[in-house]
Amino acid sequence: MQRNTIQRRIILSTVLEMHNHPTAADVYSKITESCPGISRATVYRILGQLAEEGMIQHIPLGDSADRYDFTLGEHAHFVCQCCGKVFDLPLAQTPVAAAEGFSISKINVTATGLCPECAKKGTNA
Ligand SMILES: [Zn+2]
Ligand SMILES: [Zn+2]
Repeated sequence: MQRNTIQRRIILSTVLEMHNHPTAADVYSKITESCPGISRATVYRILGQLAEEGMIQHIPLGDSADRYDFTLGEHAHFVCQCCGKVFDLPLAQTPVAAAEGFSISKINVTATGLCPECAKKGTNA
């Protein structure tokens, strides 16, 4: 068994177990618990490969660290400005391209605001 294959399997199963939209750093620190010898560069590189192959979803979040997601179906993300948590939102409708001739292969929707918990805290304060 090739070393890289084993590492890939460990990284993939770790992401599939983490249901909180981990950053690459989160995945790395989780992996070092069970596999202390692995390098940060290896984890980051394999995460990128897995995302490219469509095994996991890469979520670029602009101003905060990119996240990885085990949920592959099209869905939108909501980032709380207060606690920084990332939530899944159902993507109820596919926005159809307004102009003809565009074919959508991937939709990336990220909303920002306050999650229910933080919104509640805000009104009570
Ligand atoms: Zn929040
Ligand atoms: Zn998600």
